[in-house]
Parts: sequence; structure tokens; C-alpha cells
Amino acid sequence: MSDFDDLKAFQRDTIALGEISGRLGWDQETMMPRGAAAQRGEEMAALETVLHARRTDPKIGDWLAAIPTEGLSQADLSYLDHVQKSYTRNTKVPAALAAALARETSVAQGIWAEARANEDFDAFAPTLTKVVDLRREEAAALAEGGDLYDALLNDYEPGATGAELEAMFGALRPRLVALREKLLAAPDQPAALSGSFDEDKQMALTHELAKRFGYDFNTGRLDKAVHPFSSGSGQDVRITTRTAAQDPFNCFYSTIHEVGHACYEQGISDAYHLTPLGRGVSMGVHESQSRIYENQLGRGEAFTGWLYEAMKTEFGEFGVTNARDFYRTVNRVGSGYIRTEADEVHYNLHVLLRFDLERKIIAGDLQVADLQSAWNERFKADFGVAVDRPSNGVLQDVHWSVGLFGYFPTYTLGNVYAGCLNKAMRAALPDLDAQLAQGDTTAATGWLRENLQQHGGLRTPKETITHACGFEPNEGPLLDYLEAKFSALYGV
Ligand code: ZN
Repeated sequence: MSDFDDLKAFQRDTIALGEISGRLGWDQETMMPRGAAAQRGEEMAALETVLHARRTDPKIGDWLAAIPTEGLSQADLSYLDHVQKSYTRNTKVPAALAAALARETSVAQGIWAEARANEDFDAFAPTLTKVVDLRREEAAALAEGGDLYDALLNDYEPGATGAELEAMFGALRPRLVALREKLLAAPDQPAALSGSFDEDKQMALTHELAKRFGYDFNTGRLDKAVHPFSSGSGQDVRITTRTAAQDPFNCFYSTIHEVGHACYEQGISDAYHLTPLGRGVSMGVHESQSRIYENQLGRGEAFTGWLYEAMKTEFGEFGVTNARDFYRTVNRVGSGYIRTEADEVHYNLHVLLRFDLERKIIAGDLQVADLQSAWNERFKADFGVAVDRPSNGVLQDVHWSVGLFGYFPTYTLGNVYAGCLNKAMRAALPDLDAQLAQGDTTAATGWLRENLQQHGGLRTPKETITHACGFEPNEGPLLDYLEAKFSALYGV
């Protein structure tokens, strides 16, 4: 056995244990008996201790130093790069700090939930301050004199920088604000969906949607959970969705979104299973898959034409009289408070707000005590309405309570990547809409699998998109797509 063989055997077991940890998390959200929470917490903590010890095991450093790199394939070089980065990251943070962060964030999540229920930001602020202080300390350990925010961002989108995102997002914001103002002032507004839709029938149609978007039920399953998510990789990639009688679109589009994430994992080459290359390469690239499935494909006029007929078959007549009106209803734009419920035009404005605020917080230029007023001021400027209560504003997302700083921008980066991929895919598949109108996504999902999904972590995130599109990612295609789609849809 060579050093590289030993390293690969060691990594394979670590990754397999990580998959088990992830499956316990899935179980907790779907199947676990309510009374099992305390024991489950201990089980997961015990597994986490084993994982942390393996990820920081000095043997990894010895192997990395001993393995000769000349003559290695691109995949093997990328493999070593992933291991090196993860090992360096895990060993840079002192164990005491990692433990303090884990402890504080698990407590903070509960305090956040209570403060949110009580509409009381001040009750959360002291805890959030502690989380911010610990994350800044961690960022300082990781950055070694570099930018603190970039160090955190690197966990979710390797290679991205705050300055680069600031330039990209700075170009998005004015055009999105102008577009939303134009659409909301249009005389002919789309109607909202009304009526009640049987939840079992929603689940039947959502299974059909998952299949049509290429989700493989042989290596996956679809269950209900409070919040839709996808988990796992390789041969076991599971998704969840939810139903509400008044809002079948939430069920259908949450499902298609999670199918996008899951198909990315299922589409990765078998040769990379249980290796560092066997997972989606970054949060941004992951979100590009969920978003292009959900929006550019699922909310396009061609596919909604098929969905309209499928809904009539499942539910009978439901008050929308033609496919064009249905398309307009699916894509109705409104300035709501909640990010996760936002339409395609408003969604990125929600993310840009969070990016600017959290970057200032991590830089020390904004104090937690001033966060709520900064949020409300920015929301009024971009959305034209005042925040009415904290659960509709600064307390709506769980992310900051669990220490996720640097995560939010990957949502918009995913949309930007999806815009680029859509442009390249449409150029390669000129008759795509004719297939989507039949409910057939195989050409589109096949193109994404071939050009992006199968490669997993072979390349950096930016290289992954550039390889698939033939050009470097930029915000232009997303803005062009949004302006063209919604101007036509609203007749302005
Ligand atoms: Zn997602």
C-alpha cells in the first residue's frame, strides 16, 4: 500500500461516517420519535467527536507531506487539494474555540426561536453578540491576517471574496429595484391562486414532478418535513417537502428545488463516491442546480403549460381559465417580508440586504445592538414598505443564530450561476421549450448532468461554472433573463 492508498482508505471511512451523521440528521427531521431527542443529541455528539478526531488526525499531515504529486491525474491532484484545505482548516481552529462555538450556537438557536415567537430582538441580541465574537475569533484564526469575512465565506464558497461579491451584487441591486418598481406599478397584475387543494393529491403530483425532473427514487426517497431539504450523497440522496391546502405551489416548487440539489448529488460520477470529490463543490454551485430546476425550467412558460394540465387532471377545474393566466399566477411578484417566500425578482434583494449587514458585523463596523434598525432602514429603501414586526424582519432566518456568517451570499451566487447556465443550455438546446411543454426535462437535466453535475468537486466552484458555460460567471445573464421574462409577463 502506498501513502496515497492509505490516505484514501482513511478518508473513505471518515466520509462514510459523515454520511451516517447526515442520515441521523435526516431521521431527526422526518421519522424520529419525539421522546428520542435527548439520546439522539448524545449519539450525534459522540459521532461528531470521532469525526473531529479523524479530520484533525496528524497522520493526514504526514501522508500529505509524503505523497509525490508528479504524474498524478487531475482528479488525484484535486483530491489532495481538498484534503489539504480541509485538514488545514480543521487544525487552524483551536479545539477549545470549536467547542465553545458548538456550545454557544446550540443554545443560541433556542434563544432565537423564543425571541422570534415573542417578537423581541433585544432578548436575542446578547446571545447573538457572543456568537459573532466567537465567529470573528474563528475567522481571525483562519484568515491569518487576511480579511475576516473572506475566511468565513471560504467555508461555503471556496475562492470567493467579499470584494468580488460586493461588485457583482452592486450591479444587481439597482436593476432589481428598478424592475420591481416597474412591475408593481403595472396596470395588469396577475391574479393570486385561490381555493383548497387536497394534500394527498399534492403529494401524488409532487412525486410525478420529482420523477419528471430526473430524481432517481432507486437511490432516494421523498418524505414530508417542516422545512424542505435534501441530504446525503452518492447512492442515498433523500429529499423532503411540505404541503398546505391553500398553497400547492409551495409543495411543487419546494420539491423541484430540492430535486435540483438531489440530482446534483445523484449525478456525480460513481468513481467519486465516498471521496472528497463526491459532493457538490460549493453552496453556490449547489444552489445553481436547485434554482435552475425550480425557476428557469420549472417556472418557465413552457413547463407551466404542462403543469397547468396536470393540475386540472389531479384537482379538477381550479379557477384559472387558461395556461397563460396560470403562468402569470405562478410568477406573481409582490414585496413580501419573508426571503423564503420571495419571487424571483425580490429574492436576491433579500439576500443582498443580509450580505451587506453581516459583512459589516464581521468587520466590526456594525454592532449587534444596531442590527435591527439597520435592517429596517435597508428594507424600507429596497422594498418600499416598513417592517411591521421582528419575525418579518431581522429575526426571520435561523442562520445567524447558528453562526452561519458568509452563507447568505451563496444563495444569490447560485442564482447568478443559474442565469449563466441557462444561457449556455438554451444555446446548446434550441428546441428545449418544445420538450418542456410536454413535461419532458430530460434534455435539460441531461445537459446539466453532462456539463456540470457529474464532475462533483473536480474543479473549483468558479471553474466548474466556467467549464459548463464556456464563459466566466457574471450577473449579466441573470439580469437579462429576469428583465425579459417579467417585462413580457407584466406587459411593461
Ligand atoms: Zn437550496
